[in-house]
Amino acid sequence: MRIFTAALATETNTFSPICIDRRAFEESLYAAPGQHPATPTLCTAPITVGRKVCAQKGWTLIEGTATWADPAGLVNRQTYEGLRDEILDQLKAAMPVDAVVLGLHGAMVADGYMDPEGDLLTRIRDIIGPDILLCAELDPHSHLTAKRVAAADFFVVFKEFPHIDFVDRAEDLWRIAVDTLEGRVKPVMSVFDCRMIDVFPTSREPMRSFVDRLMAIEAAEADVLSLSVIHGFMAGDVPEMGTKTIAVTDGNKAKGEALARELGLELFSKRGTFMMPQIDEKSAIDQALAIAKGPVVIADMWDNPGGGTAGDATVILEEMLARGVTNAAVGMIWDPIAVQICMAAGAGAEIPLRFGAKSAPGTGNPVDGLVKVMKVVPAAEMRFGDSIAPFGDAAHIHFAGIDIVLSSVRVQSYDPSLFTALGIDPTTKHMLVIKSTNHFYAAFSKIASEILYCAAGSPYPNNPAKTAYRHVRRDIWPIMADPHGAPEDSEAA
Ligand SMILES: [Zn+2]
Repeated sequence: MRIFTAALATETNTFSPICIDRRAFEESLYAAPGQHPATPTLCTAPITVGRKVCAQKGWTLIEGTATWADPAGLVNRQTYEGLRDEILDQLKAAMPVDAVVLGLHGAMVADGYMDPEGDLLTRIRDIIGPDILLCAELDPHSHLTAKRVAAADFFVVFKEFPHIDFVDRAEDLWRIAVDTLEGRVKPVMSVFDCRMIDVFPTSREPMRSFVDRLMAIEAAEADVLSLSVIHGFMAGDVPEMGTKTIAVTDGNKAKGEALARELGLELFSKRGTFMMPQIDEKSAIDQALAIAKGPVVIADMWDNPGGGTAGDATVILEEMLARGVTNAAVGMIWDPIAVQICMAAGAGAEIPLRFGAKSAPGTGNPVDGLVKVMKVVPAAEMRFGDSIAPFGDAAHIHFAGIDIVLSSVRVQSYDPSLFTALGIDPTTKHMLVIKSTNHFYAAFSKIASEILYCAAGSPYPNNPAKTAYRHVRRDIWPIMADPHGAPEDSEAA
């Protein structure tokens, strides 16, 4: 067997001011054919798992380009077309192949392309013809368009959010691909459109039990090859945005349709109950001050660079300054210009500095003050599970009793080591303000006396009922109260 694999992935927040070009892909991950490292980066797991599977089988794996850009705004048109054509040319050169197995994210939007993954998959289908297997792994924070469903044989989606299972799901993808190529199964994909926009952390109920149930059904029923939920990505203003369920069965279309529908309607019935309770910045500071033991971790949950925002909002910091909060640390605020100024000044210098809130409306105001530069670190890093997350040149400044970490690379606050890297002991602080929606939890919960989820300002379109969408359909909850009550049937193709 000859199998072609490649990865093209990013998550586009169409409301983000941070546009991305080829350099952004190259800075995050760009691997030419055969150059992908041994460890996968989220959406590139089909390549590393594919190497293992094909080696065991004695099959030929032809690797194309594998690239990933950290979440941000619109992708430059030439960048998308260039990366797409590079992969299509590699595939043409590899023909004939028996299958194409891809790593995609599924929430890319490029200038001129509302559905780049649908475009890529359709062009691949045109090259390989109708009978060659085409499948991909997707991130649940993606848009499942009809064009993609028509072009691919099946998708497997990460089940967990945080995405701790991207390698496990790549193994599912390959297992189903191998079983198909060896003639044991015939995958058929069914999709149900839940007509809702929501956020589904799987670390808490009710989504925890729902995901456990999907896995129990997969284990118990031999003709159910894979069950997935496309959570949807509310920061992507595209026509087919929303939550969808996928059932991949072994040739049993009727069963797949019924399962996808049943699971989808169950999610719809629990709409609005999946997210953790959120409070505003005033309540967050009130509650943190009222808790005797620190550190209280306040997650500035919507100014999360992992969701494509700039990560420079100052709304919570401004509230802390107004209230005279001390013995607190803030990590991180993205401000490469301020970092550059601090590095030039050097550790120990006291300088006038303007920092933060320079990139987007709804993120507070830049803070002006006489700050003390405590420490500067070139190419700073923090831990993220077993891996390392770089956050660029960084500065630790002390201002009005608060220690603040400024970074020059946009990345969410994964781990308390972001503070220790800059000489701050986070365990001695009463209050820690960080920027992350969910991924921070594993590491910060180990040191936090309490965790508060704070919705401050409007750095991210986190309220679909109020977001000024231009392309999202209107017959979807919470824009419409009960879209399933509408006369026309709600099933997607
Ligand atoms: Zn995701």
